[in-house]
Amino acid sequence: MVQGSANLNTEINEKWLQEYVDNWVGFFKKQTVDGEVASYIPILAEADQEALGISIIGKNGVAIKSGNTEEKFTIQSISKVLTFIVACMERGLAYVLSRVDVEPTGEAFNSIMHLEITQPKKPFNPLVNSGALTVSSMLEGKTSDRKLEALFILLEKMIGYRPQINVETYESERDTSMRNRAIGYYLLEGDYLESDLGITLETYFKQCSIEITIDDLARIGLVLSNDGYDPDTNEEIIPRAISRLAKAMMLTCGMYNASGKFAAYVGIPAKSGVSGGILAVVPPRVRDEELPFLEGCGIGIYGPALDNQGNSIAGIKLLRHVANQWDLSLF
Ligand code: GLU
Repeated sequence: MVQGSANLNTEINEKWLQEYVDNWVGFFKKQTVDGEVASYIPILAEADQEALGISIIGKNGVAIKSGNTEEKFTIQSISKVLTFIVACMERGLAYVLSRVDVEPTGEAFNSIMHLEITQPKKPFNPLVNSGALTVSSMLEGKTSDRKLEALFILLEKMIGYRPQINVETYESERDTSMRNRAIGYYLLEGDYLESDLGITLETYFKQCSIEITIDDLARIGLVLSNDGYDPDTNEEIIPRAISRLAKAMMLTCGMYNASGKFAAYVGIPAKSGVSGGILAVVPPRVRDEELPFLEGCGIGIYGPALDNQGNSIAGIKLLRHVANQWDLSLF
């Protein structure tokens, strides 16, 4: 039985919220033993299987965090949301969408199947590897570092500092990722890559290796919750139409092959990555009762033990519980 699940109808108090979340993290942490850390990128296998942490930052300034809150981990697939945003800002929405579709695949994130059987081979969406590689190839600049500069500038605006690339993780993926190379060749054949394949892969592996924390994810989520505007200064960081589309992509395609169930049972835009991170966006909502974070919040989760779909096994359960208790769903 999860403790602290009482109705929060009464006065909402930060200390209470903290107690509830501490309780929930303690409960779901036990479920990390049922998952497995990713090992197909060798260095990811070194992660602490039992880690679980959550950070929630509200537009109202309330910030709650609990569990393993200080770990740095690589952003992995969550970067796909951000490079999609950057490409749309640099190249225009219409152009990016002419090169990458916005449909869920129902296949694994690194599947080659659709590239083989559909004509034209247009990638299904920017959150599967074929779409993400296409997007990385479209970023402005001739080298991987030049291409990622706008991403770093965007990240710095959202999280308040310039994050680093974890070189060991970058090299670990670069030296092993035959499947991404294969996807790259399919894209080359279909004429979807706008940069040399080597530069495209280098850009993609580097973006996946950016090191962040759960607080950083919560801040990114908060900016998206606020339609792309800085929650403190109201400065536009991402144009609203692009932020809207990024959230739609997260809702329909963000949680691998559990995206449908996640939309049904949790009901908020989210994106996970193989290192065990989850970025979740809670837009402002209208309710008759007083509930936590009614003005919207960003949520960051880290729990490297993954389920069969590749999502953080305890993280997804924790997020579902928080969403149900606080009625965070969009629907
Ligand atoms: N760098 C990873 C890959 O392409 C990212 C996968 C993920 O997080 O889904 O295999």
